[in-house]
Amino acid sequence: MASRSLSPSLTPCLWITVSVVCVCLQLLCGHVACGDAQNAREVILLDSKAQQTDLEWISYPPNGWEEISGLDENYTPIRTYQVCQVMEPNQNNWLRTNWIEKGDAQRIFVELKFTLRDCNSLPGVVGTCKETFNLYYQETDSEVGRSLRENQYVKIDTIAADESFTQGDLGERKMKLNTEERIIGPLSRRGFYLAFQDVGACIALVSVKVYYKKCWSIIENLATFPDTVTGSEFSSLVEVEGVCVSDAEEEADNSPKMHCSAQGEWLVPIGKCICKAGFHQKGDSCEPCGRGFYKSSSQDLQCSRCPAHSFNDLEGSWRCDCEDGYYRAFSDPPSVACTRPPSAPQNLVYNINQTSVSLEWNPPADTGGRNDVTYRVICRRCTWEPEECVPCGPNVGFSPAQSGLVDTFVTMMDLLAHANYTFEVEAVNGVSDLSRTQRLFAAVSIATGQAAPSQVSQVIKEKVQQRSIQLSWQEPQQPNGVITEYEIKYYEKDQKDRVYSTVRSKSTSATVNNLKPSTAYVFQIRAFTEAGYGTYCPRLEITTKEEATGRMNPVIIIAVVAVAGTIILVFMVFGFIIGRRYALAVKFPGTKTYIDPETYEDPNRAVHQFAKELDASCIKIERVIGAGEFGEVCSGRLKLPGKREVSVAIKTLKVGYTEKQRRDFLCEASIMGQFDHPNVVHLEGVVTRGKPVMIVIEYMENGSLDSFLRKHDGQFTVIQLVGMLRGIAAGMRYLSDMGYVHRDLAARNILVNSNLVCKVSDFGLSRVIDDDPEAVYTTTGGKIPVRWTAPEAIQFRKFTSASDVWSYGIVMWEVMSYGERPYWDMSNQDVIKAIEEGYRLPAPMDCPPGLHQLMLDCWQKDRAERPKFDQIVGILDKMIRNPNTLKTPVGTCTRPISPLLDQSTPDFTTFRSVGEWLEAIKMERYRDNFTAAGYGSLESVARIHSVCFDKLFLLTKHCIWDHLLSGFSSIKAIM
Ligand code: AMP
Repeated sequence: MASRSLSPSLTPCLWITVSVVCVCLQLLCGHVACGDAQNAREVILLDSKAQQTDLEWISYPPNGWEEISGLDENYTPIRTYQVCQVMEPNQNNWLRTNWIEKGDAQRIFVELKFTLRDCNSLPGVVGTCKETFNLYYQETDSEVGRSLRENQYVKIDTIAADESFTQGDLGERKMKLNTEERIIGPLSRRGFYLAFQDVGACIALVSVKVYYKKCWSIIENLATFPDTVTGSEFSSLVEVEGVCVSDAEEEADNSPKMHCSAQGEWLVPIGKCICKAGFHQKGDSCEPCGRGFYKSSSQDLQCSRCPAHSFNDLEGSWRCDCEDGYYRAFSDPPSVACTRPPSAPQNLVYNINQTSVSLEWNPPADTGGRNDVTYRVICRRCTWEPEECVPCGPNVGFSPAQSGLVDTFVTMMDLLAHANYTFEVEAVNGVSDLSRTQRLFAAVSIATGQAAPSQVSQVIKEKVQQRSIQLSWQEPQQPNGVITEYEIKYYEKDQKDRVYSTVRSKSTSATVNNLKPSTAYVFQIRAFTEAGYGTYCPRLEITTKEEATGRMNPVIIIAVVAVAGTIILVFMVFGFIIGRRYALAVKFPGTKTYIDPETYEDPNRAVHQFAKELDASCIKIERVIGAGEFGEVCSGRLKLPGKREVSVAIKTLKVGYTEKQRRDFLCEASIMGQFDHPNVVHLEGVVTRGKPVMIVIEYMENGSLDSFLRKHDGQFTVIQLVGMLRGIAAGMRYLSDMGYVHRDLAARNILVNSNLVCKVSDFGLSRVIDDDPEAVYTTTGGKIPVRWTAPEAIQFRKFTSASDVWSYGIVMWEVMSYGERPYWDMSNQDVIKAIEEGYRLPAPMDCPPGLHQLMLDCWQKDRAERPKFDQIVGILDKMIRNPNTLKTPVGTCTRPISPLLDQSTPDFTTFRSVGEWLEAIKMERYRDNFTAAGYGSLESVARIHSVCFDKLFLLTKHCIWDHLLSGFSSIKAIM
């Protein structure tokens, strides 16, 4: 393109060249002098003014736009384009820039500076002269050559001048420069061209600037935010994540962010970085703590000086190390001083009382700088000659405890008589276990005195006759010497112990003779040694047999024996024939019976006879699910070679067990291993040859039935509940057929799997006594879960399958009431009394009457009257097959159907007034309420529904108002 220098000629274009120079002076001035912050956010892609050589844009047709060179006042050349074909009609002059690569930009700013001649000031141009021009762009990924096709351009806008100038302005040298800015975008190609279309105006394009905006990298809140190009929309903010400066980290849940605005400004800082442990903030960076200082956490602001008895030699430490002989407990924060173990307790004194020893001492002189000093006692029993000491073992009792003592005294009990003991009392604090220095303790050596033997145990009636009773018992656990004899004290129960007799025995059994027939006697036994008598064991009540009435005629006896013998013979012959004839068709039931593992001399043999020994490597323990009597219960997986992996529960025997504990623990496996029924928990095997000793049982996902029901209160249908009960009954039928009496059947001892299958669990001989938290001591000796146990089992320890049926009735009640506690909060004593008086639990809410009737049948006082488990299974099966029988009559006030209950209905004829009746039932405090409610006469009281009276009477007696009263609004109103 031709370029011309500015020359003072009189061509029609003279005015334009002059204006260019003046405008350029203005522009340069603004740029140099003002250099504002706004410009700092811009990235310039094209600035025609900054180019001093030819721009060489494309102009078409060639006689349209012309490139003109000029000089500013500093004689700096500038480049510009002008066009002024105002005289000719139909002008279409195009000017296109070179290709502009857009870089990261999405929104492009185009700033145009130009001057434009007022058509009115040009003579003879009416109709052809224009005062606007058009701005276009074309996006491309690369340069497209120098040809120019109009239809490929997108119009940005028609640009008009805010101010045009006239010939007169030229004379005054007042140039009117227009500045217009347009924005294009979002752009997607790599670059673009700009094009200017003139349609017959007189224009000088003084400068074209193309740029985009950016937020420039900064550090804010210890986070670096990188250069960020603004968003594509005018209103958009670009969210930018900050990166923490070195040795800083993001504050928890508060990572640093900022927002880059369309104007290239950083806005809305959120979150922050903080200096890491060992570093503190200085300006926009983190610097290490100096020597002798530390900062333990990024949350702390400043470095702190090392606490007492600690130091550090390095910069940037998060903690200080303890000096030699000083320690920090695991729970001590780095900010506390290092401490050391306490010195020994002082002034240890003792006091011996037979086989008990009390120790007292003063606190140590030096607590080591801590206030968590406690004391522990080490007990050793020593032989006299030579003196060799062994730990005292678990039989010695410590009160209040052996270790963790806060007070400065302790008593050791159950020591052996005439034995030599050494006790060491050590003061310990939070760092004692960290110290490798020698233990400091106060010690005493003591010889215990004489002591009487402890109680005999397990008294058993071997033989009860009309006039004699044979007893046996176990030697006391602590004889404390040689037992020379036992004394058996006995008296008639009715006489109390005002008159009693004694019998002596050298062995652990004795026969007491000369007793009266059919008489209840109370027995107590104690042992005797050189040190005197021990205490009596708990009372044992035994009733002698009835005396036979009259003598039988020997002839009759012979006749009876002969007849009986004949009958037996006939049956034997008949049985033999039948047995031979039908040997293949008839199966005699009950051939497999339960074997009590206690009958084995070596209990280990019993375990290995009934339980499979598993290889511990086949078991994978996963998590703890409960606490058993002997240790934790875990869940896990069992993979036996050639078998599918199964989920299992693993009962473990805790470390430090005694031989007896091990035996009792494995006893459960010896029992469980004999059973094989879908409603009895299945034993997979045992691990006895490794540690820990384990019992591996099938896994029951829903745990114990009582808590399972409580968790899902009201969520099952009656059929589902009856299905569970049916399963339990089937499991119990199997166990009773095997001759096993459970003794502790209760919902807590039923396990539920993921398919709601209920299985009987908790087997063991001593478990009822040791394991069940519900078991309490009864007056007849022994521990019993009273609420679940049949009266004959409570009274004279008569445990049979019939007593299991009673317990089953209670389980039915637990199930139908979704885990309610039987007899609610009545005391055990009240429960025993109520049962004795004929009270039976009422039907739980929504319980079908048929099921409650079955419960009542299980709670028959006479155990022979109770149904057998196979009958129970039959009844439940029938109910399941005929669900109509399980419907609860709507709106009925279901009455507990107990024959004995009716005896409790008050007989109003024996009372003269309501007050007298209330007094009789010990409810006189409600007298005013009855009067106020309009029940002043006995007649009006009698009108209250008699069923409700049954309940009222029971309730007043057993204090369980709230549970049963719901539904009896008339009575509730009075109460
Ligand atoms: P136990 O020693 O039998 O009374 O067990 C203690 C607790 O461990 C029970 O109350 C159950 O919650 C849980 N448990 C015992 N055996 C199993 C099993 N086979 N499957 C799932 N949980 C069990």
